[in-house]
Amino acid sequence: MGYTGEQAAKYQADRQKRLKGEWIADNGPCKKCGSDVMLQIDHIDPSLKVTHNIWSWSKERRGIELAKCQVLCHDCHSQKSRLEKYEQKKRKRGGGDSKHIGVHWDKDKQMWRAQLSEHSKNRHLGYFASEDDAGEAHDRAVIKVNPDARMNIIT
Ligand SMILES: [Zn+2]
Repeated sequence: MGYTGEQAAKYQADRQKRLKGEWIADNGPCKKCGSDVMLQIDHIDPSLKVTHNIWSWSKERRGIELAKCQVLCHDCHSQKSRLEKYEQKKRKRGGGDSKHIGVHWDKDKQMWRAQLSEHSKNRHLGYFASEDDAGEAHDRAVIKVNPDARMNIIT
């Protein structure tokens, strides 16, 4: 007596779910915060990711992909994904722009340049070796002309 197609599919799905659960249990809790709530599999370096859909693969093949992974809780995972998307965008722009408002990388000087946009003119605020210092310079300047302006909020 054989399985019907539907039973076979359900068997496969259950098996894959079990394998995934076992791997998470073996590799958890969350690598970042130690939580064991809503654990997920994360590719440590997303550029190396082939697929998440590995549970039907052979153990050997799966092992290669899982060696690139870690366990994160839902919150840490979504936070990491957001950061990765941001980094991706930054790379697409050519990597010249800072995470801070009013800060740009000056290729010639190899320093961060802070500037303030004022009445559609840019006021130069100086060059800084540290990206955060440049962001702070922007904050100090902008608060004088517009206390409601968007800030980098450096602490
Ligand atoms: Zn976490």
